[in-house]
Amino acid sequence: MLKIKAINGVKDILPAEIMYWQKIEKTACDIFRRFGIHEIRLPILEKTELFTRSIGETTDIVEKEMYTFVDKKITMRPEITASLLRAYVEHSLHLQQPVQRLFSIGPVFRHERPQKGRQRQFHQIDVEIIGAHEPQVDAELMAMGQMLFNALSLDVRLEINSLGCPACRPGFRNKLIAYLQACSDSLCDDCKRRTAKNPLRALDCKKQGCKAAVEHAPSILDNLCSACEEHFSAVQQQLDLFEVSYNVNRFMVRGLDYYNRTTFEFLTADLGAQAAVAAGGRYDGLVEQLGGPKKTPGIGFALGMERLFLLMQQQKKQQDQPKGQGGADIFLAALGEQAIRFASPLVHQLRHLGLQAVMDYSNRSLKAQMKQAGRCHADFTLIIGEQEIEQGRGILRNMNTQEQTEFSFNRGAAALAEVIT
Ligand SMILES: [Zn+2]
Ligand SMILES: [Zn+2]
Repeated sequence: MLKIKAINGVKDILPAEIMYWQKIEKTACDIFRRFGIHEIRLPILEKTELFTRSIGETTDIVEKEMYTFVDKKITMRPEITASLLRAYVEHSLHLQQPVQRLFSIGPVFRHERPQKGRQRQFHQIDVEIIGAHEPQVDAELMAMGQMLFNALSLDVRLEINSLGCPACRPGFRNKLIAYLQACSDSLCDDCKRRTAKNPLRALDCKKQGCKAAVEHAPSILDNLCSACEEHFSAVQQQLDLFEVSYNVNRFMVRGLDYYNRTTFEFLTADLGAQAAVAAGGRYDGLVEQLGGPKKTPGIGFALGMERLFLLMQQQKKQQDQPKGQGGADIFLAALGEQAIRFASPLVHQLRHLGLQAVMDYSNRSLKAQMKQAGRCHADFTLIIGEQEIEQGRGILRNMNTQEQTEFSFNRGAAALAEVIT
């Protein structure tokens, strides 16, 4: 029979890797808790319109990367922010708490060419603070991101920028369009095509020609209105108070239409090319655009878990590997049908007591079962054969020291648990 393989661009996360994923999630949950950020779980399928309306018709994501069931007008979410805001609006969460601080973890789907660190199903940790416009909140979110990377011992750099607001961005946009049209010959096809609709994307195009061309382009930071300028400088002051270091990068823009004012990225140089491991920013118009209460500000970021995983794997030689679910506390080696009948309730009782207790029912040789105990990384093995049952005591072997003692069965599971922990 032909083997059925996973489709291109999706990946299994195997038991040998899961400890990294669990560590990322556990660390994130712990740090989010300290900042009063609560979990929300969201569906993967949403109406297509949610993403066209929020992410923007002319973005790469909407133009070519979404998995959409055309006949049903349903899309597998390409990011989490839109879904989270949809839930915020749908359940009127602002009535419960004027500022909502939420996070969600899960898969997102984009149809793009699979490459290292980039898949068609990948995973994001998404954090959003909805209802607060204060610049301190922007800085707090970045400080939290920095704290998370520190906790995972990952080396990242924070870059920030401001994208202005509906009052100041159109003026800048026009200046930029004029500039790009003047040097259109040096731009790549993508940038040429989107000059009129989405000129900001040219600023962070990775192509050499475009990079050189925009070097002297007008800067958004010289074109901010006074309110945006004030906001951006307050963000920087607050980052200083939190002792978070950062660089201002005027070329950093977002591929999504809904961002305004503060944008930021955490970058690493450890994955070959410069890569963002987390990116986010402010989206003060988006809640309203999705039918929510007027003038509801918001800010958030998404963190790519595959990239974090790669980074952690790279560093595993230098630091302790995260402990996975750990080895078994005890392996019960039962020899013979009678011993299996005797041992199985004991294993069950040990599990009731919270231990990782393992046995197998295949009645293999002692040698084979000891091998199996080794594979389970068991701390102890309790050997039970017919003779042991007759004598009312089994042989308890400490797998680390190879020391053997006897254990009387009538002492019960609780006593056994005590002996081995
Ligand atoms: Zn402005
Ligand atoms: Zn370009």
